[in-house]
Amino acid sequence: MAIRRPVIAGNWKMFKTVSEAEDYAVKFLEEVKDVTDLDIILCAPFTALYPLKNELEESIVHLGAQNMAWADEGAYTGEISAQMLQDVACTYVILGHSERREMFGETDGEINKKVKKALTVGLTPILCVGENLNLREEGKAVERVQGQVSRALEGLSTEELSRIIVAYEPIWAIGTGKTASSKDAQQMCASIRATLTSLMGLDAEKIPILYGGSVKADNIAELMTEPDVDGALVGGASLDPLNFAKLIINANPLPARVEGI
Ligand code: PEP
Repeated sequence: MAIRRPVIAGNWKMFKTVSEAEDYAVKFLEEVKDVTDLDIILCAPFTALYPLKNELEESIVHLGAQNMAWADEGAYTGEISAQMLQDVACTYVILGHSERREMFGETDGEINKKVKKALTVGLTPILCVGENLNLREEGKAVERVQGQVSRALEGLSTEELSRIIVAYEPIWAIGTGKTASSKDAQQMCASIRATLTSLMGLDAEKIPILYGGSVKADNIAELMTEPDVDGALVGGASLDPLNFAKLIINANPLPARVEGI
């Protein structure tokens, strides 16, 4: 029997100085030290990663970045490489967040190169996909999201695919206070799993698929009851350590999500 271990990842976006991050880590670790049923990831700004490496060492909380370059090194002013992230003990990296796609023009092709690079060095990509409100209203949300998944994962082996996390984040729900209903989240996460199945067969049942978009301490439990929602990517509600710890505790994961694999 295989189990998809639930994942709750915080995305701090462009918030927190080094001292704020250190202060957060101390408070947060105290609150979540007894959590055993899910993986917790903090995706911090680049400048806070090294100090957090020291704070989170030997804790149950994993460290993630919010972006990285597809190149190894070289004349890429302003970029951060996968190896640099590894050097500060990052094990996860958010790739293709809608804010990067929309504001910084990231394309599916670039995201595909970044996913490949992350996997090559052993980082786990948290691949973000999601439709905007127009596409949802036009009934094209599934087509868009399945296309984003396929293009971002093009050319990956089954072994590589088995090391990814996907986050479904409808753009209209990010930072707006509007959460997709748990049924809508389930429907899209199931569509994403169907796409993964077409790429990698039954092993798709082992891939964590997260929901993101105004997830809070008071709506996480309902989302987690859906069979294909394996956790959450949390922006605003991850910024306060006590609030985020409460959300994690409320996630109350079911012990086994997949049977008979
Ligand atoms: C995010 O940034 O990935 C996100 C889901 O933000 P929020 O939780 O604030 O909607």
